[in-house]
Amino acid sequence: MLSKVISEDLIRKTADALERAERIAIVVHVAPDGDAVGSSLGLWHYCMTLEKEPVVIVPSPFPDFFNWMPGADRIVVFENEKEKAASLLQEADLIFALDFNVPKRLAEMADIVLQAPAKKILVDHHLHPGDFAQLVISYPEISSTSELIFRLICRMGDFEKINLAAAECIYTGMMTDTGGFTFNSNKQEIYTIISELIKIGVDKDEIYRKVFNTYSEHRIRLMGYCLYKKMKVYPEYKAALITLTTDELRAFNYRIGDTEGFVNIPLSIAGIDFSVFMREDSDKVKISLRSQGSFPANKFAADVFGGGGHLNASGGESYSSLQDAMLKFEEALPLFKDFLEFEDK
Ligand code: 5GP
Ligand code: MN
Repeated sequence: MLSKVISEDLIRKTADALERAERIAIVVHVAPDGDAVGSSLGLWHYCMTLEKEPVVIVPSPFPDFFNWMPGADRIVVFENEKEKAASLLQEADLIFALDFNVPKRLAEMADIVLQAPAKKILVDHHLHPGDFAQLVISYPEISSTSELIFRLICRMGDFEKINLAAAECIYTGMMTDTGGFTFNSNKQEIYTIISELIKIGVDKDEIYRKVFNTYSEHRIRLMGYCLYKKMKVYPEYKAALITLTTDELRAFNYRIGDTEGFVNIPLSIAGIDFSVFMREDSDKVKISLRSQGSFPANKFAADVFGGGGHLNASGGESYSSLQDAMLKFEEALPLFKDFLEFEDK
């Protein structure tokens, strides 16, 4: 028996909204990750069983290694089909906003979602939820939005409606947001849920292979290049930085998702607790920050790059040069020295 994380009131109101709804849109953050795709498709499959014409709309494309997910081929990508996405959002009478806290994370889709007349329900696990939704199901202590979707469906009394397709999507989100259950994954109930998903038929080993072992040769070579040539280590700050320019990305035939997870690798060096990865884009630099222990990657992201996220996994963007972002990073390191944990000698 799972503990009742989501409040009774929110469960009742969500069930009520679902019952009234006829056209449901499900939106997630820009550059969707496994939890964004997994939670939205998990909810989509559930809504399909309710015959509610659900549609998942993502602001920008997601990595190819999520294409196998049941329903992925039905996802509408705003960047590719702006008019269709906009009219679906406009016509929806219920919009679920999943896996992000503030509308800014919807990028170019934000205003359209905000102005859409539909009732909005936020389901998320990031800190500091914005107040753009009528119902806010926000539990930062839960390690993935996919887990929240599982809990939400069960609490509405519909566990039986979680079919294999939904279960596979939910499992994928739980797995990717915990790095294959290597961080944020100490809560016992995660494994109770996994056990239920396996009972439904999920093959967890196969999902691991489909997500983590189907990379292109280019990605693996780019990873090698990053670690050999582009990783800078700052032992006195227990930190590491990897940067990639657009030219370098081009040379390795970069595809969306190819650099996913690179930021985690330096954390496996003894004595490194903070890792930052910067990828130069056409108009900005995308920054990913990871830490272990109590070092606040989200404070660093917010203070230095106007971003945010979780304590150990956060991100931000910089609209000046890559060089400038690197400089900002190096200048900020000494200011965060007090947050580092050093073993007593
Ligand atoms: P990633 O490094 O995988 O892109 O993002 C890790 C986490 O950082 C995300 O789950 C999200 O919470 C947060 N994040 C990523 N990019 C941004 C950003 O530009 N702004 C904010 N506020 N948070 C971000
Ligand atoms: Mn998530």
